[in-house]
Amino acid sequence: MTAVKIVVDHAKCTGLGICESIAEDVFEVTDDGSLNLLAQDICPSRRAEMQEVIDSCPTEALTLVD
Ligand code: SF4
Repeated sequence: MTAVKIVVDHAKCTGLGICESIAEDVFEVTDDGSLNLLAQDICPSRRAEMQEVIDSCPTEALTLVD
């Protein structure tokens, strides 16, 4: 199985941290409010969880790439 990746549109992200609250091992909002991706290659078994994160982002800043 191929890893999935998350792409962040930093122009849309407002740093609210909802993504971090769902998967803190993948998403980290820094003190200055920007988003860091802590994992580049995410196990495909977590695809549904990542889709939940994407659906929960209020600014639609996240995209899943297979
Ligand atoms: S939930 Fe969306 S807007 Fe909020 S920090 Fe994550 S990517 Fe940015």
